[in-house]
Amino acid sequence: MVSLIVRDKPPCMVNIYGAMALKIIREPRVYLVGRQIVDEGQVREFLADHEVDCWTTDTDVAGQKLCEIAGRVCYMSFARPRPGGNQAYLGHILEVGHGSVLEHAVFNLLITGVSRSFTHELVRHRAGFGYSQLSQRYVDESVADFVEPECIATDPCLDAIWREAVQNCHQAYGLLVDRLMEKYADLPDKTQRRKLARQAARSVLPNAIETKIFVTANARALRHFIELRCSEHAEVEIRNVAAAMLDILQKEAPGLFGDYRWGTLPDGTRVAETTHRKV
Ligand SMILES: Cc1cc2nc3c(=O)[nH]c(=O)nc-3n(C[C@H](O)[C@H](O)[C@H](O)COP(=O)(O)OP(=O)(O)OC[C@H]3O[C@@H](n4cnc5c(N)ncnc54)[C@H](O)[C@@H]3O)c2cc1C
Repeated sequence: MVSLIVRDKPPCMVNIYGAMALKIIREPRVYLVGRQIVDEGQVREFLADHEVDCWTTDTDVAGQKLCEIAGRVCYMSFARPRPGGNQAYLGHILEVGHGSVLEHAVFNLLITGVSRSFTHELVRHRAGFGYSQLSQRYVDESVADFVEPECIATDPCLDAIWREAVQNCHQAYGLLVDRLMEKYADLPDKTQRRKLARQAARSVLPNAIETKIFVTANARALRHFIELRCSEHAEVEIRNVAAAMLDILQKEAPGLFGDYRWGTLPDGTRVAETTHRKV
C-alpha cells in the first residue's frame, strides 16, 4: 500500500489535480530534423586550386561526402581514388579506426516521449554532443505526460503502485507551485515568480516525467553512444531510443552506420553491435 504524500488534502487539490487522468507514454519518438549540405561550388573551387580536375564520389549523403573529403585532405588523395566509391572509402576509415574523420558528419535529432531518467543518462555522453532540453524552471509541468517502464505497465499490481506514486508526486507539485506563487506574491515580475515557484516545486517530480531533448551529434560520437546504449548491458529505455536512432541513421547514412548488426534479447528487445568498436 502506498501512503499519500499529503495527508490533509485541501479541497483545491482534489478539484484541480485529483481528477486528472495520467497520460502515459510507452514509446519514444526520434525525429531526424536536420542534416548537412555540401557546397559543391566551393568543393570544385578547392579542387581546381589544387590542380585536381575530376574528383567525384558516388554518395548523395552530405555527411558521408564531407567525411570523405575531410579524409582525402589528410593525404591529398583526390587524384587517384581507389575503386569502391564512398562506401568503400568510409569502410576503410572504420577498418583503420581513423575516427576523427567521422566527426565531420553531423545530425540533428529531436527526441520526445522519453523520461527524465533517460535524459540524465543521455547527457553523460559529452564528446561530440550538443543538447537543448525542455526547462522545468520555465515550463509548467502541471499538465505533463509520464513514461512508464514496460515491465511495470504489463503487471497490474506494479502498474497500480506506479500510478499512485506518480499521481501523488504530481499532485504535490501542483500544490507546491500554488503555495510558492503565494509566497512570492510580493515580487512584481510574474515570470520571475513562476520561475521561482516551478524550480523549487519540480524537486518532487518523478524521474518518469516526460521530457523533450534536441540533440546534435557527430557520427563518431553517435557510434560510441550506440555501442554503449544499444547493448544488452544498457537500460531498456535508453536502449530503445538508441535502437530507434540507429534505425534512422542506417537509412540516412549507411556508409557511416551500416556495419551494425541487429540481435534480439530473450525479452524481445533489440540490441546492435559492430566489429568496429570505438573508432
Ligand atoms: C551499461 C552502463 C552503465 C552505466 N552505469 C553508470 C553508473 O552506475 N554510474 C555512472 O555515473 N555512470 C554510469 N554509466 C555512464 C558511463 O560511465 C559514461 O558516463 C557514459 O556511458 C558516457 O560514456 P563516455 O564517457 O565514454 O562518453 P563521452 O563523454 O561521450 O566520451 C567519449 C570518449 O571521449 C573520451 N573522453 C571524454 N571525456 C574525457 C575526459 N574528460 N578525459 C579523458 N577522455 C575523455 C573517452 O575516451 C570517452 O570514452 C553507465 C553507462 C553504461 C553504458
